[in-house]
Amino acid sequence: MSALNVEHVTKRFGDTHVLNGIDLDVEEGELIVCVGPSGCGKSTLLRIIAGLEDHTSGHVRIAGTVVDATPPARRGIAMVFQSYALYPHLSVADNMSLALKREGVAKPEIARRIAFAAEMLALNPLMRRRPAALSGGQRQRVAIGRAIVRQPKLFLFDEPLSNLDAALRVNTRLELASLHRKLGATMIYVTHDQTEAMTLADRIVVLDGGRVQQIGTPRELYEQPSNRFVAGFVGSPK
Ligand code: ADP
Ligand code: MG
Repeated sequence: MSALNVEHVTKRFGDTHVLNGIDLDVEEGELIVCVGPSGCGKSTLLRIIAGLEDHTSGHVRIAGTVVDATPPARRGIAMVFQSYALYPHLSVADNMSLALKREGVAKPEIARRIAFAAEMLALNPLMRRRPAALSGGQRQRVAIGRAIVRQPKLFLFDEPLSNLDAALRVNTRLELASLHRKLGATMIYVTHDQTEAMTLADRIVVLDGGRVQQIGTPRELYEQPSNRFVAGFVGSPK
């Protein structure tokens, strides 16, 4: 049974066909990187998987269960955005615990999960601060921490590092890779950064024209790119 199964998902906005039949099967523990030109529907696909957007046809399954009509909060998914989306009036600790309180998780369990995430992301010195008193990289670590404490079955990342400067991107990318190893979590990661894709991915999905153009390991894409876009993206001489 796959962790995530997307079966022939289509999406139209009015007359605009954004996704034209996406099929994707993700195994448990896999880190899938999704790439493609701007506007090709990467964010729309993530939002559909998360339940933040309805699809026009097709099915989404999480751990074997069809979730087409399941509200976002009940899908066992946590999504991290480029824009962090932290609450400015809440401390780091409160930003991380808010969703758990709403879900009715018991206080000692909340404390345990927050301690775990804070340790993993080196957030301990920052827990009482408000987002305005954090750097961009620190805010993004908080956003990732907020996802971890929910113990999701599936993590979705939508260009999470694109607001960070080059050095921070590298650090945060290495942290994410280490996080993936430690948690053994299933992750889908959207980026337009070739290095991120090639170094993080178990498999890369290339989207273009509303379709999956190719899916394979970084090496497979490099050695046998299915078209010019893929070849250009992975820097293959072919
Ligand atoms: P990407 O993340 O790959 O850059 P998006 O998924 O954001 O692409 O967008 C894919 C296409 O769908 C774009 O042409 C965008 O303009 C369109 N789109 C996205 N959201 C909406 C919406 N709510 N209403 C109309 N069109 C939308
Ligand atoms: Mg996008």
